[in-house]
Amino acid sequence: MIDYHIHTKLCGHASGEMEEYVQSAIASGIKEMGFSDHLPMVTERGNELAMSIDELPLYVETVLDLNQRYGEIDIKLGIEADYFPGLEEKCNEVINKFPFDYVIGSVHFIKKWGFDNINQIDQWEKRDINQVYRDYYTLLRKSARSGLFDIIGHSDLVKKFGQKPSDDLTDEIKQTAEVFAENGLACEINTSGLRRPISEIYPSLDVLKIYNDYNIPIIFGSDAHNPKDVARDFDLAYKMAATVGYFEESQFSGRKRTSLKRSFK
Ligand SMILES: [Zn+2]
Ligand SMILES: [Zn+2]
Repeated sequence: MIDYHIHTKLCGHASGEMEEYVQSAIASGIKEMGFSDHLPMVTERGNELAMSIDELPLYVETVLDLNQRYGEIDIKLGIEADYFPGLEEKCNEVINKFPFDYVIGSVHFIKKWGFDNINQIDQWEKRDINQVYRDYYTLLRKSARSGLFDIIGHSDLVKKFGQKPSDDLTDEIKQTAEVFAENGLACEINTSGLRRPISEIYPSLDVLKIYNDYNIPIIFGSDAHNPKDVARDFDLAYKMAATVGYFEESQFSGRKRTSLKRSFK
């Protein structure tokens, strides 16, 4: 098992020491994991959702140190970066200062609205759901074209609270998958959606089928904000990958992707 989406308490909304995540991973029989805490926000928005820029060197050092200390598990240095249109250069500057193995690009905001933030959930009632979904997919395509990222995180996060579009968005999703493919991005199968109101893996089975049609590589992530959630529900994620026809998962080192043959059983 490889879990590439693990947070730390530096982001302010996760619990447990970093070492406890490593120990939890080892206890689950994981041979490779990656921390991917939130990159400090390059805007004022949501400062409470990420570590400060001053804490980033400490995060990097701690991950590298843990990797040195634990020989039984390979610990990668990842980061989850928010995508903000117009701030690509600023984001790139921060990313390039550190030796990341991979960068997960995530869309959590539509303009100033944190659509997956429970504190801003009331905004959903004021919006056209189909338009929210379209705006979300437009941002995913922009994020993929930005060249900033290696992996697209939880690529239908917009469904988190259970609002469903009435329009058929298949074409929108196909267009998005095409852009992922053109830009050589991998996508994440993220099990944290099972712990949210939607109670589904991100992305859903139908979306993953489309990704497979476009030969988009996959990685797996628990989005753990607590040590006990490392690799949680990966059995279900593997089952889904197998159903769709995937037989490989990706690994990253120094931002280079390689493929690992898998039977997902
Ligand atoms: Zn995220
Ligand atoms: Zn995350």
